[in-house]
Amino acid sequence: MLERYFDNAATTPVDPRVREAMLPFLGEDFGNANSIHAWGRRAADAVETARGQVARALGAEDPSQIVFTSGATEGNNWVLTSFAHGTVSPFEHSSVREAAAFLGFDVLPNEGLRLGTPREAGGFISVMAVNNEIGSRFDFGGVRQSAKVLHSDITQAAAKYAVDLGPLDYATLSAHKFYGPKGVGALYARDAPLPPMLHGGEHEHGQRSGTLNVPGIVGMGAAAAVAAERREIDAAHAARLGEIVLEEVRRVPHHRVNGGDDRAPHILSISFAGVLGEALVVEVDAAGYGISSGAACSSHSTEPSHVLRALRIPPEWMRGTIRISFGRFNTADAAYGLGAALRKAVTTLRSLS
Ligand code: PMP
Repeated sequence: MLERYFDNAATTPVDPRVREAMLPFLGEDFGNANSIHAWGRRAADAVETARGQVARALGAEDPSQIVFTSGATEGNNWVLTSFAHGTVSPFEHSSVREAAAFLGFDVLPNEGLRLGTPREAGGFISVMAVNNEIGSRFDFGGVRQSAKVLHSDITQAAAKYAVDLGPLDYATLSAHKFYGPKGVGALYARDAPLPPMLHGGEHEHGQRSGTLNVPGIVGMGAAAAVAAERREIDAAHAARLGEIVLEEVRRVPHHRVNGGDDRAPHILSISFAGVLGEALVVEVDAAGYGISSGAACSSHSTEPSHVLRALRIPPEWMRGTIRISFGRFNTADAAYGLGAALRKAVTTLRSLS
């Protein structure tokens, strides 16, 4: 039922090609990549192949700019805690937002989706590439001149879309958003390595200690290579499926699409006035389709999302927000079915209230 899973911004299924690439490293090629013997060398070689694949998919100049981590949460915390002070956009994922709040960082002012200039020029700034709740793309290049150090959480864009690393000093990503395994990610550091957050070994040239997750890293490399190769096909597929769902949604009165005109096609956020987003998720789930009411990390919270609040969406719309996120394994038939199920759910729920 993979074709009915429309929550690809939360996580994607592992691509069969990725699983194939990983299997030997869950079997006979189990070596520790730090060991000197043949088992260790085989693992280390596979890690370096993956590093090259990730670097190429991102358009990095050199594989040495890639450090493997456990995911974007670790990467984001690592980057932010490396700076004494900084500014972040108001649209960031909780792993940037909460780290920033803990560290007492500033938040960039915004006017709708347009980011303002920081109060303090010449410091550290973090602006995500694609928002995980509404799909909006942010022009991090626009704040380049105000920043001494510029970081972007590229988790929702990496490998799937071309990201211009040119203005960035650091970028962070997770493999499971592009059909790789969970629990593995990477930090891109253009020229200055960060001070280590984890101490205790010489792994990753002393930058990130801990025995390497070789199967995960191999999977991330394979996923990056496949995603980069399929970039245009996957993006066009997502855009087409979005149009199919929107065709049905346009027949529902009182709805709004939240991501703005320059949205990444795989994330579609829609608000319906007078219904609860969670109730829509439950109704659509009963019809056999997986969608979400926002970010998976906060789907158990009843607080309106900080992203929708930053957009100043009226409260009666905010609570009726759902997120549909398209992926490689969805089909046009399933998108038609989802559109119909959604329209029916809104109509039913409105008639009950
Ligand atoms: N940043 C963004 C934009 C995300 O969408 C996510 C995943 N929801 C993360 C960071 C965190 O990734 P992970 O949970 O894999 O550490």
